[in-house]
Amino acid sequence: EKAKQKKLVGEPSVTADGECVELAANIGTPDDMRGVLENGAEGIGLYRTEFLYMGRDSFPGEEEQFEAYRTVVERMNGAPVVIRTLDIGGDKNLPYLDLPEELNPFLGFRALRLCLEKTDMFRTQLRALLRASHYGNLKIMFPMVATLEEFRAAKGLVEEEKKRLTDEGFSFDSQVSVGIMVEIPSTAVAAASFAKEVDFFSIGTNDLVQYTLAADRMSERVSHLYQPYHPAVLQLIKNVIDASHAEGKWTGMCGEMAGEETALPILLGMGLDEFSMSASSILPARSLMRTLSGNDARALVERALVCGTADEVKELVHAEIK
Ligand code: PEP
Ligand code: MG
Repeated sequence: EKAKQKKLVGEPSVTADGECVELAANIGTPDDMRGVLENGAEGIGLYRTEFLYMGRDSFPGEEEQFEAYRTVVERMNGAPVVIRTLDIGGDKNLPYLDLPEELNPFLGFRALRLCLEKTDMFRTQLRALLRASHYGNLKIMFPMVATLEEFRAAKGLVEEEKKRLTDEGFSFDSQVSVGIMVEIPSTAVAAASFAKEVDFFSIGTNDLVQYTLAADRMSERVSHLYQPYHPAVLQLIKNVIDASHAEGKWTGMCGEMAGEETALPILLGMGLDEFSMSASSILPARSLMRTLSGNDARALVERALVCGTADEVKELVHAEIK
């Protein structure tokens, strides 16, 4: 099995009836690139930049960040690299960042919310990203977007830094894509309005599931309620994909669900464009993809969306892929 999958390293991700998708990898640091290349990822769908900020006692500067981002885009050799801006707060803190104590940190001051207030820190990251965009196919992605105003504010800062970099004589990709993670239900529901303004979506199911079912992703006590296959979650995912396609934009997924065997037929049937997962899941996913049919997957989605429970959805899919 392993040896058979190894043969798929340089192969496209295509279904039995000839439909292509992109199978990409999630990374945390440039050191993860080895696994990405060994497993034949077609892109990076999520570069979690918080690791650059962790385990130290001050913010990483523009040069240091620029080097890290440039290394990754160069090693991907023109393939897409989606880099997420700092997603700190919630469960992840920084010793040098004075965050308020909150009763519900996952509903509080985190990720983009924090970046839009600590704009010096945020601008430094945006400048490093823009400068690295000159060296490959880099895309900027904002985490935890709840409202269109937040997206506009963040995009506005990108535009301001582009102007400054131009004045300072730096090169960057003036057409760089700017997209958002969809991990808050408001954004999934209102995807049609976002789709007019963003360049792409990437669905973050790890958070989207916890917010949709109000079940903490870290809590053992409510883990039975943490249900990626709940029909409500499936409807949100489908809404995002449909909304993006109506505006000629693409949608990826970078939560754990994107690499799950059970999810692949459903997401394929919904028309997901990019699946981003841990590098070790790519070859098994590519192997499964080659046994699936796009038409059968679309019929499966019709049936999954009218299921009453997550278990019914899973049974349906398992009967299909047996
Ligand atoms: C997600 O929420 O699905 C996601 C990919 O982001 P993280 O797991 O880093 O919160
Ligand atoms: Mg998240």
